[in-house]
Amino acid sequence: MMNNHFADIILPLAVKGTFTYMIPDELTDKIVPGSRVLVQFGNRKLYSGIVSGLHDNTPSGINIRSINRLLDPFPVVNAFQLKFWSWISDYYMCTIGEVMKAALPSDLCLEGVTSVPVPEKYKPREETFVKLARDFSESELNIILDKLVKAPKQYKLLASYVDLSGYALGMQVKPVRKSLLIKESSSSPASIDGLVRKKILTLYTLETGRLTDTEFPAEPLKVLSGAQNTALYSITEIFRDKDISLLHGVTSSGKTEIYIHLIEEVLKKGRQVLYLLPEISLTAQIIQRLNKHFGAVTGIYHSRFSNPEKVEIWNRVAGADTAKEYQLIIGARSAIFLPFRNLGLVIVDEEQDGSFKQHDPAPRYHARDSAVILAALHKAKTILGSASPSIESYNNALSGKYGLVELKERYGLIKLPEIVLANYREAYRKKLMVSHFTPQLLEAIDNALANNEQVILFQNRRGFSPYIECPECGWIPRCIQCAVSLTYHKGIGRMVCHYCGFSTSIPSQCGNCHSPGLSARGFGTEKIEDEIRIVFPSARVARMDQDTTKGKNSFERLLKALEERQIDILIGTQMISKGLDIENLTVVGILNADNLLNYPDFRAHERSFQMMEQVSGRAGRRQKLGKVIIQTSDPDNKIIRLVLNHDYKNMFRIQVEERKAFNYPPFRRLIKISLRHKNRSLLNGFSDLLGGDLKKVFGKSVLGPEFPLISQVQLWYIKTILIKLEREQPMARARHFIAEAIEKLEKEKGASALRIAVDVDPY
Ligand code: ADP
Ligand code: ZN
Ligand code: ZN
Repeated sequence: MMNNHFADIILPLAVKGTFTYMIPDELTDKIVPGSRVLVQFGNRKLYSGIVSGLHDNTPSGINIRSINRLLDPFPVVNAFQLKFWSWISDYYMCTIGEVMKAALPSDLCLEGVTSVPVPEKYKPREETFVKLARDFSESELNIILDKLVKAPKQYKLLASYVDLSGYALGMQVKPVRKSLLIKESSSSPASIDGLVRKKILTLYTLETGRLTDTEFPAEPLKVLSGAQNTALYSITEIFRDKDISLLHGVTSSGKTEIYIHLIEEVLKKGRQVLYLLPEISLTAQIIQRLNKHFGAVTGIYHSRFSNPEKVEIWNRVAGADTAKEYQLIIGARSAIFLPFRNLGLVIVDEEQDGSFKQHDPAPRYHARDSAVILAALHKAKTILGSASPSIESYNNALSGKYGLVELKERYGLIKLPEIVLANYREAYRKKLMVSHFTPQLLEAIDNALANNEQVILFQNRRGFSPYIECPECGWIPRCIQCAVSLTYHKGIGRMVCHYCGFSTSIPSQCGNCHSPGLSARGFGTEKIEDEIRIVFPSARVARMDQDTTKGKNSFERLLKALEERQIDILIGTQMISKGLDIENLTVVGILNADNLLNYPDFRAHERSFQMMEQVSGRAGRRQKLGKVIIQTSDPDNKIIRLVLNHDYKNMFRIQVEERKAFNYPPFRRLIKISLRHKNRSLLNGFSDLLGGDLKKVFGKSVLGPEFPLISQVQLWYIKTILIKLEREQPMARARHFIAEAIEKLEKEKGASALRIAVDVDPY
């Protein structure tokens, strides 16, 4: 075979294309596509690059550098990934280097270093467990216990062990944590040491934390109901001639159990499964459920993991680690970038969720849509699951592009919650409001508390008040860097910008007319928490939002407290709307539905419907009937009426008509171009130039340039151009024109201080 002397290398840069380097002789038989290499780029700086291809065509006219060295003994990226990266870079109009940056754990991605740092090693967390020193028979154990009567502490300890391990019940013996044993038997480590010396107990360690205890016996799959079985059968039938199936099942219809059955089948065939969830907040409960069945082959991946952990998971998915290979990955959107070797199934749960889309930085990808492509590369099947599918997916299902499977009833024939509309405007007029709570909501909470049931209250705004205002002249404190008002956070006593994080102390007087006594307007979760504590002083209240879940395990702690009924009322943002499966939760309050509905976006109505359906779905998932109180000033609003009847189909029908009338997806493709500059008039000039060029090609499909709702962030002025491409227009050509127009603009004098971002499918 002829030796290749050159390698095309992807570098983690926002510069177009790949870079050619010479392969040193000693590496010619070691470097392959996917290898990670160290190269010099620019002046003295070192980068890690991924080899995308090898060839023997001497590049002309440039001074070719050599690869410095090969960084790993095996290729870090596989052939599927290289194809996938290049699809993302084409479709989402970003550089392949930007995809590389998003895809690789940052410990594998060196950027502009002067020497190669030694990466921190991943240290698995280990815990000490206790077991019997050998397989004692029951009678042997009784004799031992009898003898221990003279050592009451040790007796108590062994008795507790027998209890905790399930030995007493004749079941399979479970591993028992040393810490748990000490706590349960209220004894000391010294008494355990005593029993270890007597060769009755022995200590051993297991890897724990995010990994499962491999010794736990796998729990058998649940027996599916008739409806679930029919759905499972339909999915298998659909998969004979289609690759994608939409599972539309009402909340708590048992979709997750169906996924579990499908996963089992695929794992048995030795293929990998990717289970995507919209937010890591959701993962805790799902992980527990999946771990019970699939245990040690299950890995979890999301952005909150430390770098060494990410590298370790990466290697275990690739099968490059000595530890057991991961076959099932549960993850948030970035999990699509893991080095899967043979995917058999991709599940996208809550496929309608907006957090699958990455808005910033590039690549501005949608994880659901990208996952469909990833699955196709692997010839794997995809399931999109939802209680209220996105308009796009449902449309694809109706047109026959996807298969459609529906589950119309909750598992166990539990009724969907009763929905009550509470008109807060009327209640204010009649002076029946207590703080922000209508009589209907107060009564529902009262009843729930009286029956020891739990309540969640949903308000899609964090902080205390969205803004404060001078009652005299209407002055509102604003961010000094962004065109938005500052949110009042009472707990930390500051005004905070939710766009850039800027914060300042609370003004004691008006910044305009200097009159004292500014008033807080509107309400966020923090205020609701304060007031609920006043109205229900004996209830145990907690809050779940971005501010209370910053710590690594804070979400899990709140969830556990909720499961163990240590919380009566939980207040939260959309974080609480998804996935939660809490047995004793019967009442859901939506504090202000108008907020959701009035959001200026073409998806606002679809999203409001989905959000209300979803958060309602948390109520009454077991025996007791759930109740949902929606507070609104407009009970006749058509979307609210649809939620009242859980009427997805009509919501879909109305939305599709609107989308058609106003040229939105799925009838058009949207591409949004944002331009940012610190100088407003230069920005105007540049965006008019680009807008003009685009109009020459796309004509009336180009909207703008215009200032968006938030027209300045962190001192950068923003203008946007929206292109509504006709479906018939070839995408590749359109992208080419856009890229050309942008390149031309970038060559203009003074354009170096201009930032341009292209967002394909910006929704
Ligand atoms: P969904 O994913 O549609 O919201 P889940 O799969 O979470 O629904 O199911 C709702 C509840 O019903 C869960 O607590 C689940 O454990 C239970 N459940 C669903 N299917 C079964 C089954 N076949 N056997 C026993 N319990 C089930
Ligand atoms: Zn700001
Ligand atoms: Zn004033």
